[in-house]
Parts: sequence; structure tokens; C-alpha cells
Amino acid sequence: MPSYTPPLRDMQFVMHEVLKITEDYKAMPRHADVDVDTINAILEEGGKFAAEVTFPLNITGDEEGCTLDKATHEVKTPRGFKEAYAKYIEGGWPALSCDPEYGGQGLPIVVNQAFYEMLNSANQAWTMYPGLSHGAYEALHTHGTDAQKKLYLPKLVSGEWTATMCLTEPHCGTDLGLLRTKAEPQADGTYRLTGNKIFISAGEHDFVPNIVHLVLARLPDAPKGSKGISLFVVPKFNVNADGSIGSRNGIFCGGLEHKMGIHGNATAQMVLEGAVGTLVGEPNRGLQAMFVMMNAARIGVGMQSLGLTEVAFQNALAYAKDRLQMRSLSGTKAKDKPADPIIVHPDVRKMLLTAKAYAEGGRALTMFCSLLIDRELNHPDAKVRKDAEELVALLTPIVKAFITDNGHIATNACMQVFGGHGFIKEWGMEQFVRDNRINMIYEGTNTVQSLDLLGRKVLGNQGATLKKFGKLVAQLVEEEGVNEQMAEFINPIAMLGDQMTKFTTEIGFKAFQNPDEVGAAAVDYLRVAGHLVFGYFWARMAQVALRQIAAGNTDPFYKAKLQTARFYFAKLFPETAMLMRTARAGAKVLLDTNEALA
Ligand SMILES: Cc1cc2nc3c(=O)[nH]c(=O)nc-3n(C[C@H](O)[C@H](O)[C@H](O)COP(=O)(O)OP(=O)(O)OC[C@H]3O[C@@H](n4cnc5c(N)ncnc54)[C@H](O)[C@@H]3O)c2cc1C
Repeated sequence: MPSYTPPLRDMQFVMHEVLKITEDYKAMPRHADVDVDTINAILEEGGKFAAEVTFPLNITGDEEGCTLDKATHEVKTPRGFKEAYAKYIEGGWPALSCDPEYGGQGLPIVVNQAFYEMLNSANQAWTMYPGLSHGAYEALHTHGTDAQKKLYLPKLVSGEWTATMCLTEPHCGTDLGLLRTKAEPQADGTYRLTGNKIFISAGEHDFVPNIVHLVLARLPDAPKGSKGISLFVVPKFNVNADGSIGSRNGIFCGGLEHKMGIHGNATAQMVLEGAVGTLVGEPNRGLQAMFVMMNAARIGVGMQSLGLTEVAFQNALAYAKDRLQMRSLSGTKAKDKPADPIIVHPDVRKMLLTAKAYAEGGRALTMFCSLLIDRELNHPDAKVRKDAEELVALLTPIVKAFITDNGHIATNACMQVFGGHGFIKEWGMEQFVRDNRINMIYEGTNTVQSLDLLGRKVLGNQGATLKKFGKLVAQLVEEEGVNEQMAEFINPIAMLGDQMTKFTTEIGFKAFQNPDEVGAAAVDYLRVAGHLVFGYFWARMAQVALRQIAAGNTDPFYKAKLQTARFYFAKLFPETAMLMRTARAGAKVLLDTNEALA
């Protein structure tokens, strides 16, 4: 059976020693009084919830899955899931970083995200039920009418109701411009929606009395393609003006998908038969409104893989210290035992360190991104807000794709540490691999994320936002450029920063002649950019560790941080050279292949 210990010390290191978040919060009136002790106390409690309430349901949830009663269209979630959700509401957890105007606690996003990392380590399938609600809350908070906000936000904030995002249809996944669900305007100002949605996470379940679906659909006179999509809020039960639950609406679950992982989460086929909905935002501008939820969800998906990377690492580390196989090549290490523990073998260490470096790098990046979102939402200076917004937009596809790809590498490596036992269900390691796999696919596949990064966010503005991140790197290089102890961390990122400028211009020029060059380079490009970002955070973490050690701090935590930073730069970061080379191989080698792919 796997185990899980919330990585509170490491979270505190990133929040308080690397990013110094409370100093940032002093400038934001809403968070000016949030102090280190409060944040730590909340996360300690949050960690207990994850480790004690939802983690014990992870394997049973995977084994049982969800079941649909075809007669009533009701879905039963695995044993214990509903009760865990009741405890979640009782603890006030859904309200953590929501607006006090709607019953929220108004705490920073960083705190909520750190809590979500732990929930995802504990049980990704369960966490998706409340996770989607938070994204819907953000979309309605930004684009909802006053009436919609009044009706839905308090219920989502308290967790009394949950929410979904209904985009995908059988013939339309990546290309939302193809969607067909229709919305007919009614005389009373509402709309009647008809169509079929598939793959809707948490689309139907037994946690709560009402589910709020955010649905993309087309108005009768809508232009073709993505410019003709509108967003609607469609509750499972219609809601009376006083907020009470009314009649059953015409949206129901027609089937559940059987899938590779996240079995405890209901992936529903949703049928809309004249379901009553109200418009969110402007007609035909539904994608803009939905993007609020999609961006939140993209970062949320990165957090899912971060959580799985951490829990897989913890279990692989414990196993590697315990499992005895073979002797160390450099001579016996455990003389009193019939063989050495496998942790003595260099390649086992490489697998463990890969997961550790990806977990800790991912934690630094996602916390930084969350801090940027706090700035974007709450900073009094418009320029700071704008800068933060642009940087979040640049980093979002990296959080989504780089961290989930790393999660794939890391959970597989951790499973490999267990040898054949990793493949056996009892240890729980194969579940981490299976559960992580969807993270690379939904919320825009990782290929689509890479096109968004290179095509829209880098080339689309001639690298202007990338230069903003480049400035952060340059600042660190200037600060530490003459510090010999930092050279091993600073030199690689300084060099990659320079190379990326040239690399980006080169792809930009090629793309002028042939737009397919962007598609051919994008996936490799995102991974290179991911390493630049991780490299920057690893250098900052090494900087803090070196300063502590120099000041006489003997806490082994700092030595461990330096060792992991060294491993990262020596063994993982250098893949950037190979990736730039393959990206430069260009489009022809992919497209001039009709015979090979005949
Ligand atoms: C378990 C699960 C849960 C989900 N939850 C939800 C949910 O809650 N709500 C919701 O609306 N949807 C949900 N989805 C749907 C998910 O977001 C889509 O599956 C995903 O966006 C991809 O769409 P598709 O499956 O139709 O693949 P397609 O769009 O058909 O893509 C197939 C392949 O082609 C590639 N491709 C497509 N276009 C391009 C391009 N321009 N350039 C390069 N490559 C391209 C893709 O990357 C992919 O590899 C879920 C899916 C699953 C499996």
C-alpha cells in the first residue's frame, strides 16, 4: 500500500524563502494581513485532510469506479467519496481563495493551489469534483451577470453545488469551432439547449443536490467556426429566483466512459434535450468567457501531475531504501544484509532524483504562477497587474504541458524503481502512471499547448512576453554572475537564454515561408522553454540554499536542495541541446513522408 506525507517543509521553502510571498502581499490590500504562520497553519490542516480523508480512498476509488443507473440517470461514486466531500465542505475548504462577497475566505491563490497539490497527490479522481467547481466559479465571477452571480456563486463557494465544463462533442475536441449543440432563444430571455456532449468530468455524481454545467453552444444565427460559440449556464435542476432548487432540467447523463485511469471520477456523456440555460457574457463570445475557466483548469492540470510526481517519488524512495537486490558496483554497502538496498545503484538514484527534481521544480513554477495570479487580481498598480497577466499567459501552457509530460516521465521512473512489483496493482504505482496519462491529453492536448506557446504567445507578439521572462533570468545572472559557487547554476540558464533568442528568431523566419515549421518545432520548443523556466527556479532555489549554508545553517534540507539542483543541471537540463537540434530538423522531414505513411 502506498503512503503519502504532505511536503509542507518544501512548500514553505518555496513560499517563504524563495518567493517571499508575504512581502508581495503587503502591497495588495486584500492580502496585506496574511502572514506566514496563518499560511503554514492552513496548509498543515489541508495536508491532514488530503492524507487522512481522501488518500485512503485512492485505491478503492480506482477499483470500484463510478456506476450509472440507466433508468434514473443518476451516478454513484465510489465508497467514501461522498462522505469525504461532506467533510470538505464542513471544513470550509471550497471557499479558501474565493471572494468574501460570495462567502469566500479571500485567501491568496497560492494557498489554494498548494492545498490542491496535496489533494492531487492524495486522490486526483476525487479532487476533480471540487476542482472543476473552482474554475466555473472564476468564469462566472468574471463574466456572469449579477443575477447569475447571486444565484450560483454562493453555492459554488460553499461547495453546496459543484460545476462542470461542457465543451467536447463526439466530432469536436481540439477544434471547438466544429461544435453543434444548439441554443434557441426563448421569449423569457432564457435559451433551450439541445445537443450531445462527451467526456464531461464530474458531469453527474451523488455528492450534491445540484450540478451547474457551463455549456458551449451555438445560437441560431451564429457565424460558423469558433467566432459563433456562446457560453451558457445550465443547471441540472432549474433554480428558483430565491435560490432554491426547482424542476429537473433537460440535461442528463446518457453514459459513463470506461477509461485508463481516474476511475473514481465520472466521465459523463451528457445529453441536452431542450435544457434551460442562461447566457454568460456576450453572444458569440463564449470562448473568451470559457477561457477564464480553461486557463484556470490548465494550471489545475499541471497541479494534478505535480501531485502525482510527488506521491510517486515518496513511495519509490521508501521502496528503494528497503528493497535488497545485488551489491553495489563499488563494493558492499550493507554488510549485515544478504544484498544492498537498490538505492545504492546509480540508475535507481537517477530515477528517484528525476522525480524529485521535477516535483520540486514544478512546485516552484506553479507557486510563482499562482503568485502572479494574486498580483493580477489584487495589485493596486495597473502596470504590475498587466505584467503579471502577460507572464501568466506565457507560463500557463508550460505549466500544463511541461509538468504533465514530466509527470509521465517521473511516475514511470518511480514505477520502474519497483521493478516487477511496480507493475502489480498492490503497490499503487501503476495507478499513478495511469492517472497521470490523461493530464497530457485533456484541457487542450500537450501538442496544442505547445502551438499556443510558440504560435500565439511567443511568435504572436514577436517574443515580447518571452523577453519579460528573459529579464528575470538576466536579473538573476547579474546578481550572481560573479559568484563562483553559483556558476554551475547560472551559466547554463544564461547560455540557454541567449540560445533561445536565436532559436526563436530562426523558427519565426522559417515560419514566414512555411507555417508548418511552427507545428514541426512547437513540442520541442515548449520543452526547451520549460527547462529555461525550471532552470531559473532551480538556480533561485540553489541560491537560497547556498546562502543558508554560508550563514552556518546545518539543516540537511539545504544540502539536499543543492544536490538536487546539481543533478537537475547535470542530467535533465542538457536535453535542451538535443531538443533544439530536433526542432531545427524542420517540417520537411515530417511532411515529405507520404509514402512512409501511405
Ligand atoms: C477522461 C477525460 C476527461 C475529460 N474531461 C473533459 C471535460 O470535463 N470537459 C470537456 O469539455 N472535455 C473533456 N475532455 C475532452 C478533452 O479535453 C479532449 O479529449 C481533448 O481536448 C482532445 O480532443 P479529442 O479527444 O477530440 O482529440 P482530437 O482533437 O481529435 O485530437 C486528436 C489528436 O490530434 C492532435 N491534433 C489536433 N489538432 C491538432 C493541430 N492543430 N496540430 C497538431 N495536432 C493536432 C491532438 O493533439 C491529438 O493528439 C475529457 C477527456 C477525457 C478523456
